[in-house]
Amino acid sequence: MKAVTVNEAKVIPDDFMPLYFELTKYMPEDQIESVNKAYIFAKQAHTGQYRISGEPYITHPISAAITLAELRLDSQCIMAALLHDVIEDTLIDKSDLQTQFGMEVAGIVDGVSKLTQMEFGSRAEAEAENFCKMIMAMGRDIRVILVKLADRLHNMRTISALAPEKRRLKGRETLEIYAPIANRLGMHGIYTEFEDLGFAALYPMRYRVLKASVTEREKAFRQIEQKLTEIIIARLQKHRIQVHSFEWRKRHLYSIYKKMRDKRMSVNEILEKLPLRIIVADLESCYRVLGVMHNLFTPRLERFKDFIAVPKANGYRALHTTLLTRGVYRHAIPIDLQIRSVNMNKLAEFGISAHWQEKSETGKLDRAHVRAQAWLNGLLEMHKNTGTPQEFVDAVKNDLFPDEVYVFTPKGKILELPKGASAVDFAYTIHSDIGNTCVAAKLDRRLAPLSTPLSNGQTVEIITAEGAKPNPAWLNFVVSGKARANIRQYLKCQQRCDSIHLGQELLNKAMSSFSKNLDDLPNNRLQDIAQELAYESTDDLFEAIGLGNQMAFVVAKHLLGQLEQTNDANPNLEPGKLQPIHIKGSAGMVVTFGECCYPIPGDPILALMNSGRGIVVHTEQCPKLEQTPTYFQQSIPACWAEPNEGEFKVEILTEVSNQRGALAKLAAAIADAEANIEDINLTEKAEQCTRISVVLSVKDRKHLAHVLRRVRNVKNVLRVWRRR
Ligand code: MN
Repeated sequence: MKAVTVNEAKVIPDDFMPLYFELTKYMPEDQIESVNKAYIFAKQAHTGQYRISGEPYITHPISAAITLAELRLDSQCIMAALLHDVIEDTLIDKSDLQTQFGMEVAGIVDGVSKLTQMEFGSRAEAEAENFCKMIMAMGRDIRVILVKLADRLHNMRTISALAPEKRRLKGRETLEIYAPIANRLGMHGIYTEFEDLGFAALYPMRYRVLKASVTEREKAFRQIEQKLTEIIIARLQKHRIQVHSFEWRKRHLYSIYKKMRDKRMSVNEILEKLPLRIIVADLESCYRVLGVMHNLFTPRLERFKDFIAVPKANGYRALHTTLLTRGVYRHAIPIDLQIRSVNMNKLAEFGISAHWQEKSETGKLDRAHVRAQAWLNGLLEMHKNTGTPQEFVDAVKNDLFPDEVYVFTPKGKILELPKGASAVDFAYTIHSDIGNTCVAAKLDRRLAPLSTPLSNGQTVEIITAEGAKPNPAWLNFVVSGKARANIRQYLKCQQRCDSIHLGQELLNKAMSSFSKNLDDLPNNRLQDIAQELAYESTDDLFEAIGLGNQMAFVVAKHLLGQLEQTNDANPNLEPGKLQPIHIKGSAGMVVTFGECCYPIPGDPILALMNSGRGIVVHTEQCPKLEQTPTYFQQSIPACWAEPNEGEFKVEILTEVSNQRGALAKLAAAIADAEANIEDINLTEKAEQCTRISVVLSVKDRKHLAHVLRRVRNVKNVLRVWRRR
């Protein structure tokens, strides 16, 4: 191979020419020189390699670089694009690139190579893991993903060289991963191209059929568009509004396909609306155009969206409105109008990459970058908190397909949340501490349950309480990835803490039946036993005991076994000899109360270990226990801790005569006795009276007796008793 020197670069080779031409439009000479060096390096490295299509391999990195040059990205990014496959496909490694082109270029190429090694299989798990890596890579330097997108774009443009099976795979991957990312980064041009290329690769037939019918329809509308153009332009001129660009847009095929699929609309219904985009010089003109257009045709106000005042999550800004023509044709024709300024349009087309274009100009366009970075940081934080890769992907996918609601903080700041988000999502969006301690919410200054779905424009205020904890039930209604991850994380920790605590207590009780105490053991004894039983730490052992996966007295015997040679022939240690465990507080993560008998403080109780779930407390007379005597043998003696603070559920049955207002009086009596009603059911209805079951929460038996007295005094109550 011929040695290449810098001087030879003055002759521009044919294959480099298109890229060179694009670069001269914006890049200083010395930087183009560096790019040229990267080109020569890459060309040499790929010598003798060919694309499946038969072209020399270098055409691929050059095309990727052109895509990025069209987005006006910096020289390091263009160089990285040229070099993006050398680590992967040749003997060159990262340190070679670092000495030749510096840390940053080498870093980007390395990042892209790692992404390239990912194989998105059909197995969800593998896919999820790769997706994580992708997000992590983006977090380090967002240019990694820009190069990767450009790489994928060229591969998709040349996909016809691949076998059909491969094409479908790549098509799906492009639709599920690459297109949403491009969209999230605000790169509209690449996003729509990804969608159409992915669509064509995944469903070639549907693509062809749809394309034919769309082309047909568009042809039919051309005349109408022409006439409307004249009318609108004339009106705008009359108001001396300078129009920068006026364009009847083409909807991209995949967006039409999605509408047909998701909204069950026909092609004709979708194409009936004419999409128009008007671009003007500045923000003020946008609103002037809006005014003129709303005057000229009939606006459908419910469809109006001001993304200038409230930009989308990816930074997109524009005015969207739907108009119905008047007096042009006999039938009103709907127009979907977008109005943007030149700057907004640039941002809409280039998204995050506009950051590099406009670095030197006003700081304003940087918003796209700031937003994208904030999004990525959020994802990274979430990644730390989610357990499995699949959970993470679900969370990210939720974020990638946003249907947002916009709400206000009490101070008037706008927050965007996924559609269906609740006050809990809102709380977690502000800060995980606020989410973890929220107890109530005010929506437009009115108290509302935390689960209420938020709607656009609401002012949301979160009320927190010290010591409040996330509720597992929240998982049923939260929609944002961040809230879900945080709640899961909290519950996981909580359950572990609780089970370790309980396990320790159970083990100690078991020890005490041998008249021993955990503290009596020699150092390391516990650790050795934990290891022997294949636990990584003593905490893990305690947790297993607490969760009921390991029997406390078996461990106790192990612990004491070699010390005292206790009688091994008697594994059925009599439970009666065990010290009772103390039940305090209300139900938690590892202690729950049987809903068969609703034990409350004052009741004689016992506890059952429930494998994987900790212990369930029952009353000694619980009918369930009597039906299954074996339970008694598995049970652990328990007693109530004193003093015991907390609220305990209990069920009472009443017979009430059928008179108007009887139920209300009953409820009032219960409230008077300072007990909360958790649930009410009408169990039987006879001619004269109705039997009502009420689940309420009380402090203890004394409190319950007080409630029963009150209820008995209600005029219409014939009978009341606690259900056993
Ligand atoms: Mn490549």
